Amino acid sequence: MVDLKGQYQAIKEEIDAAIQSVIENTAFINGPEVKDFAKQLAEYNGCNYAIPCANGTDALQIAMMALGLKPGDEVIVPVHTYVATAEAIALLQLKPVFVDVDKDLFTIDVKQIEASVTPNTKAIVPVHLYGQCANMEQILTIASKHDLFVIEDTAQAIGAEYTFSNGDVKKAGTMGDIGCTSFFPSKNLGCYGDGGAMLINDEKLAERARMIASHGQGIKYHHDIVGCNSRLDSIQAAILKVKLPHLDDYNKARQKAAEAYNTAFDSVDGVQIPKLATYSTHVYHQYTLQVTGVDRDLLKEELQKQGVPSMVYYPVPLHLQKAYINANYAKATFPVTENLSKVVLSLPVHTEMDNEQQAYIIKAVINSINKLS
Ligand SMILES: *Cc1c(COP(=O)(O)O)cnc(C)c1O
Repeated sequence: MVDLKGQYQAIKEEIDAAIQSVIENTAFINGPEVKDFAKQLAEYNGCNYAIPCANGTDALQIAMMALGLKPGDEVIVPVHTYVATAEAIALLQLKPVFVDVDKDLFTIDVKQIEASVTPNTKAIVPVHLYGQCANMEQILTIASKHDLFVIEDTAQAIGAEYTFSNGDVKKAGTMGDIGCTSFFPSKNLGCYGDGGAMLINDEKLAERARMIASHGQGIKYHHDIVGCNSRLDSIQAAILKVKLPHLDDYNKARQKAAEAYNTAFDSVDGVQIPKLATYSTHVYHQYTLQVTGVDRDLLKEELQKQGVPSMVYYPVPLHLQKAYINANYAKATFPVTENLSKVVLSLPVHTEMDNEQQAYIIKAVINSINKLS
């Protein structure tokens, strides 16, 4: 699905030197690379603070702790997302309140949010799924009307841009109270292990998040609040420092690959190409088709036989996962998400995709659909 080796080879010298330098300086934890990268990341995103942490899941958890959410508080979250979004909520004994998604855009259906707001609702967590922003303008309007926090899960959308109706343009993850992202290797900005960060504008909130990620300490060995241990290590920060200046090019390469798929599949019966929101760019963390004309799983198998990998994000909606089934959702149905779990299929889309590779994939998809229909 990705070509991490090809991407490394293109910047090998710089990466190797950056890693070697950390080893020689032995500042493995909280080395200067971590501070440098945080500054660079905030600048790139046009926000005041970027606070690195150990992974994207921690970023979500620390964000909710920093905002002071308490057990029993309700947090609205799309039901079609990676488990981490709901997991952070559940771990803090908050209550995930699932909302269905838009059938074409895959992001939270803003028309359904307000019906889920109760006096206990404290936050909304929009997920910029597959690399395209949720409808933030409407989400922020609903949030301010009901006095809710907004935590953006931008693990899949780093670098995407959102245009507000007044013309303001903001980067994904910088519009709500806290944006949470991940540097998992296959993400659009991936490191060589685990990593994550929070994007924050408010100074006090940033300070709280930073303290929580560091055992709740402001001054060393003085613990003012209960925190955790969640650090981006210096080697990963050094790698990310090298890679961040390439992020826009990486995203452009993904967009180019997505456009070629769109052109090839637009007129093919039985598949729907991803639709674009008017308000967001798409950085194609995933290129996701809806397979409607043939059986999705058979198509996946057929592609596999021809050496073409594909993935289903996600095969089981969160409200049907054993860990998240509860009395509240025993009878609930989320028809859009339940359908998506049966029809979505993501194709390889990455920064090193060449025309020949892609032509092979396109041909395999079209041939397989013809064979199965
Ligand atoms: C990857 C991802 C996460 C979690 O990031 P990790 O770094 O793997 O913990 C959270 N939410 C979404 C939508 C993701 O894709």
